[in-house]
Amino acid sequence: MSFIVAIDGPAGTGKGTMADLISKKYNFTNIDTGATYRCVALEMLNRKIELDDDEKIEKMLKEIKIDMEQINGELKVTLDGKDVTKEIRSPEVSKIVSPVSSIKKVRIAMNDIQRKMAEGKDVIMEGRDICTVVFPNADVKIYLDGDLKERAMRRYRQNKEKGIDMSYEEVLENIQKRDKNDMEKEMGALKVAEGAVVIDTTGMSIEEEEEAICKIIDEKIRKGKK
Ligand code: C5P
Repeated sequence: MSFIVAIDGPAGTGKGTMADLISKKYNFTNIDTGATYRCVALEMLNRKIELDDDEKIEKMLKEIKIDMEQINGELKVTLDGKDVTKEIRSPEVSKIVSPVSSIKKVRIAMNDIQRKMAEGKDVIMEGRDICTVVFPNADVKIYLDGDLKERAMRRYRQNKEKGIDMSYEEVLENIQKRDKNDMEKEMGALKVAEGAVVIDTTGMSIEEEEEAICKIIDEKIRKGKK
């Protein structure tokens, strides 16, 4: 039996950071579903595939192989055997990933990949539609929210640490556009799932956010779901 912690929310709410900390604390497999969409976006750029080229997209989805593994505490993402961990965070990929993730064929293929990645494991999975679509029966369902400007500032600082060159204004604009597109998607739109606990992360430190999430997980474990 596997135990599933599902986290949804807009960009910059700490989903990735929380998934990383919690996967280490509870020894859960960490699955970053945004990274799967980023891999598809990167491959579309590499192959110069237009967003409306159904045929090429279908072919590409059949051919690509996305993998994720935790190495020395860091999540490593590979696309067809090549390490793309950093490349998938580039401004070019960030710009097109949301429209790419709105393509139904892409969503169906990624949902499939994400469920397979979780098979038989205790996992923490974060994204936009994990509680609503991928694992609506997850043991723990959380929606992280937060003030737009604060989220943009967090992402701007994080990018800087990772050596990704984007101005604060660029990050803010990108997040704003992605939020809108993610919430208005026809399939897998970002929204609060039934039964999900909403945490407003505005003004919260990483430690406070982690504590709030651990409290929910611990309670579920105590009630005997694991
Ligand atoms: O989480 P991250 O910012 O890396 O996600 C990149 C993009 O992938 C999001 O803006 C969203 O458009 C898409 N995504 C999605 N469904 C998920 C995870 C991410 O549509 N489960």
